[in-house]
Amino acid sequence: MPTAGKLTVVILEAKNLKKMDVGGLSDPYVKISLMQNGKRLKKKKTTIKKNTLNPYYNESFSFEVPFEQIQKVTLIITVLDYDKVGNNDPIGRIIVGCGASGTELRHWSDMLASPRRPIAQWHTLTPIEEIEK
Ligand code: CA
Ligand code: CA
Repeated sequence: MPTAGKLTVVILEAKNLKKMDVGGLSDPYVKISLMQNGKRLKKKKTTIKKNTLNPYYNESFSFEVPFEQIQKVTLIITVLDYDKVGNNDPIGRIIVGCGASGTELRHWSDMLASPRRPIAQWHTLTPIEEIEK
């Protein structure tokens, strides 16, 4: 929404997530970080969906991004498994923004090209093990 200086992100659903819990499934939630120049400006989270590998969220998040800044920001979207005990396990991640590539860059470009229309797109998570290598 260029005139309002708002970037709205809707997390719809995920499918076939990795099993992260022993003897169970996963308890996935999604963390969205708004980044600029390698710095995190804002962080938001979805609710946790218990015991599922195919969570449905349909949750909407708005970030204040002035129009002139939109080309400079990046979203890091991470799916994590909530654990009652110990640290939550990251499952996978995508990066959407001008610094992205492939489907993620195309989604961003489509969004910039039609700012008033929501554009839904599936993305393939990069497993966290591969990012940390
Ligand atoms: Ca776990
Ligand atoms: Ca868990």
